[in-house]
Amino acid sequence: MSAEDELNNIASEVASCTKCSLHHSRKFAVPGEGPPNTEIMLIGEGPGFHENEQGRPFVGAAGKFLEELLASIELTRKDVFITNVVKCRPPGNRDPQQDELNACSTYLERQIQTINPKVIVTLGRYSMAYFIPNAKISSIHGQAMQIRGRLIVAMYHPAAALHQGSLRPVIEADFLKIPDLIAKAGTLPEFQESKSVNREEPKQLSMF
Ligand code: URA
Ligand code: SF4
Repeated sequence: MSAEDELNNIASEVASCTKCSLHHSRKFAVPGEGPPNTEIMLIGEGPGFHENEQGRPFVGAAGKFLEELLASIELTRKDVFITNVVKCRPPGNRDPQQDELNACSTYLERQIQTINPKVIVTLGRYSMAYFIPNAKISSIHGQAMQIRGRLIVAMYHPAAALHQGSLRPVIEADFLKIPDLIAKAGTLPEFQESKSVNREEPKQLSMF
């Protein structure tokens, strides 16, 4: 099966998924979108109001800012795969709960395996915790961790940067590191055989 077919399959499974209680309040599930052959995946928290209305990730104010950040490294949202750790909107934008994160993780894991990106940028605490449990975002943001030949880079959530002005230059500077990380990730010896990225001991790369 082609990667595109598999991503489409995942999206249709997500659309009718009832594995956690978030399906009760969704209007549209938000599986994520982007080209199957991209080298970079961006993973946020979960759909908000606008995403739930449209079935597309990062289409509200945070999405606008994310597009500006991508433009700063000469990318558009068509160049990257954008998704979230939960695919249905938590009511009232509350934080996703552990049982919901667990239930939804199989979709994210399949997306990662299918796309096999060189670099994964986590946006916010929940997607950081998916890869690097117990890390503090204030300590590790912008630093690449090597996990099975893939680079995982935690960044602040764009919405947090919009609400807290002092974080804006931080996430802007972190985004500027992405092109270099993509170039370097391709030379990592483990990249060719990388499979699953989750539940691995992260190895921090001081050189990045
Ligand atoms: N915030 C997220 O984390 N994800 C979205 O898709 C939109 C806003
Ligand atoms: Fe299924 Fe994930 Fe939606 Fe829960 S959030 S219903 S696990 S797709």
